[in-house]
Amino acid sequence: MRVLITGVAGFLGSHLADRFLRDGHEVIGMDNLLTGSIDNVQHLLGNDSFTFVRYDVTNYVHVNGPLDGVLHFASPASPRDYLQLPIHTLKVGSIGTHKTLGLAKAKGARFLLASTSEVYGDPLVHPQQESYWGNVNPVGPRGVYDEAKRFAEALVMAYHRHHELDTRIARIFNTYGPRMRKHDGRVVSNFCVQALQGEPLTIYGSGKQTRSFCFVSDEVEGLYRLFQSDEVFPVNVGNPTEHTVDELAQLVVELTGSKGGIVHEELPEDDPKVRQPDITRAREKLGWDPQISLREGLLQTLEYFSVLLGQAD
Ligand code: UDP
Repeated sequence: MRVLITGVAGFLGSHLADRFLRDGHEVIGMDNLLTGSIDNVQHLLGNDSFTFVRYDVTNYVHVNGPLDGVLHFASPASPRDYLQLPIHTLKVGSIGTHKTLGLAKAKGARFLLASTSEVYGDPLVHPQQESYWGNVNPVGPRGVYDEAKRFAEALVMAYHRHHELDTRIARIFNTYGPRMRKHDGRVVSNFCVQALQGEPLTIYGSGKQTRSFCFVSDEVEGLYRLFQSDEVFPVNVGNPTEHTVDELAQLVVELTGSKGGIVHEELPEDDPKVRQPDITRAREKLGWDPQISLREGLLQTLEYFSVLLGQAD
């Protein structure tokens, strides 16, 4: 196959490129490097099956030659990023999805949208099944990401129904692992970097809010299988083991022996109180289940961050 991955220099996009290349496919990777880093694809730049194009997919997207797949992963994805880049976030989720869908249609390619658990907002149904429509505040600060992705899902379904485009929608839950940025702002990267530097871990709010963390190799395997499946409706791709933020902090302290302690900071507006995927559909349709425990995944992530922190900026 010959596929286009947008957001290829991001955390997930770069691991997804590795996965396609590992199976002998050709990857064209696009990224405007707004939140992505060329470091994430540096190891691929000499690979004949990989082409990097620096480009903003909110403009008309052109790719020479045939394409079998378009995987749209471009977007700021950390709350810190999309709060700082609200218009970019709305544009890449709406216009960027439109442009890449148009490309897929022109090439007769399958399209996969990187959607998100944020479409469920601060959920009133727990755990979240794909049939749940969510509880999103459209005018709150997180609305820029949540509504962009909800619009993107609607657009993908319209291209599927109206143009008979072959489409997939992945609802990605919290994912962590190597290639996260140290100042990404998300909880796993913050805690790992803080603990390794002997600084206090910053728990926002009470720490009783929950998330369900998926290690990146599991996440990418689920996404790869979804792309190859025939499931058109959204599929939750995440690890269903739920933890409080407190528990995550305690585990990071235990694994690092950090003596920096813990501080509490204000809870961001509209921060979801709970989040846990129901992955029945992924299990049934993709034969997929996460394999890596939080402890094991954190050890690999801590190893990555300790090397990164040892390097000069
Ligand atoms: N959080 C925290 N300390 C941090 C960063 C995040 O307590 O240094 C909390 C945040 O308020 C949220 C959870 O951890 O409840 C997950 O936040 P993250 O930014 O990783 O992603 P989200 O799941 O909110 O999109």
